[in-house]
Amino acid sequence: MKKIFIYIVIIIIISFSISILFTKNFEKKEEEVVSPEPVERVENNFVDLLHKADGTVEHLGLEEYLYGVVSAEMPASYELEALKAQAVVARTYTKYKQEEKKHDNADICDDSTCCQAWISKENRFSRWEEAERESNWNKIVQAVNETAGKYIAYEGKPINALFHSNSAGKTELPINVWGGTYPYLQIVETSGENAYSTYASEVVISKDELIQKMLEKNSKFKINFKDDDAMRILEYNESGRVKTLKVGNTELSGVEARSIFGLKSAKFEFMIDGDEIKFQILGYGHGVGLSQSGSDSLAKQGKNFEEIITHYYKNVEITE
Ligand SMILES: [Zn+2]
Repeated sequence: MKKIFIYIVIIIIISFSISILFTKNFEKKEEEVVSPEPVERVENNFVDLLHKADGTVEHLGLEEYLYGVVSAEMPASYELEALKAQAVVARTYTKYKQEEKKHDNADICDDSTCCQAWISKENRFSRWEEAERESNWNKIVQAVNETAGKYIAYEGKPINALFHSNSAGKTELPINVWGGTYPYLQIVETSGENAYSTYASEVVISKDELIQKMLEKNSKFKINFKDDDAMRILEYNESGRVKTLKVGNTELSGVEARSIFGLKSAKFEFMIDGDEIKFQILGYGHGVGLSQSGSDSLAKQGKNFEEIITHYYKNVEITE
């Protein structure tokens, strides 16, 4: 009898505990359902930044993060309106990446070849002359703050706000770089980019180096430099960049050649001179979207950040 009584007491205690647990869970769930909006809105003002070098993730306020992007991506000597355009582009690109979820545990990384560059204030200061540190930083903060919350939208959504250093006068279509098209990324012309150090560059490699690099690409690579057409550009695309190039028995795209030979852009010519191949390159970067030197050039011509943005991205609106 005593045993049965004890069993009954235990069963009552267990059922009571289970009912409390369920009620608690239910209450908790209901709380979560009631308040998703404020949580999401707060989270949108933060960025989880992956530092590629050591794999750590830093939780930063969005605008604070943007100071580090603008100061890493654009010279502080550029016009304020160009810096403001860069700030809006960086904010847009960040929002786009947050939705894309490219990185598992972060919104975006600090590698310019993967996402967009970022530099801490301390590192930035150490690379500026002491006399200009405060004024440079204040200019960047001003560019970000005066455009606070603004981003570029196409059909109501943040655009893939691609940008590069110098388009050498004409931007490129994304299909010629990675494939894919975006209605707002078209070929756009800008004057004045030849005034920048990023406009022209040269790469010289020896014939042996070229053979080594090509063998890494194609183990069956062969070339006879005595042939008249040992190396020849086969086709240009609409923006004037190299579309295809023949190197010995191998055909490359201009984008592949850029990567294999370490060229600053796919807009290049070359000449074979003795034991060397000399590449003359115009522009810096993939050439798609906003050109940074072009933005500065437009700002010098009196354009404001909104006019600069709508010059490079078509049929978009700047929204908050
Ligand atoms: Zn990344």
